[in-house]
Amino acid sequence: MSELSELYEEIILDHHKRPRNFRELPECTCSAEGRNPLCGDEVKVFVRLEGKSLSDVTFQGQGCAISRASASMMTGKTRGKTEGEAHGLSLRVREMLLGPESEPPGELGDLAALSGLRKFPARIKCAMLPWHALEAALSGRPETTTE
Ligand code: ZN
Repeated sequence: MSELSELYEEIILDHHKRPRNFRELPECTCSAEGRNPLCGDEVKVFVRLEGKSLSDVTFQGQGCAISRASASMMTGKTRGKTEGEAHGLSLRVREMLLGPESEPPGELGDLAALSGLRKFPARIKCAMLPWHALEAALSGRPETTTE
C-alpha cells in the first residue's frame, strides 16, 4: 500500500470514529434523508440557510465508514459556503469519483481521501450518498435514494 493511500485510509477512519457535526439541528431550515439500499446506509442531512449561505450543516444516521466519513467531511466543508459553492463542491466530488482520473483539486481538502474509491463502484454510492442528501435538502426534496 502506498503512503498516500495509507494517509487517505487514516483520514476516513478518523472521520468514521469521530464524525464531525454528528447531531440533529432543530433550528434547520431544510433537511433530507438519503438511503443507499445496496449497502444499507441511511443519512439525514440538516441545513440551516441564512440568506444564500449554509450557516450550519449537520447529519445523523447509520452507515458504513465511507458514508459516515463522507458525511462528516461534507458538513465541515460546506458550512459557511453559499448554496452555489456547496453545489460546486458536490460536483467536484462526483467528478473526482466518476470522471477521468486526475489529481483531486486542492479545494477538496480531506475529501481527496475518497479518491481511492474510484476503483470500487459500489462504494462510490456510499461516498455520494450524503451529497445527494444535501442536494435534495437544498432543492426542497425530503428524501433521496442512490440508484
Ligand atoms: Zn456504505
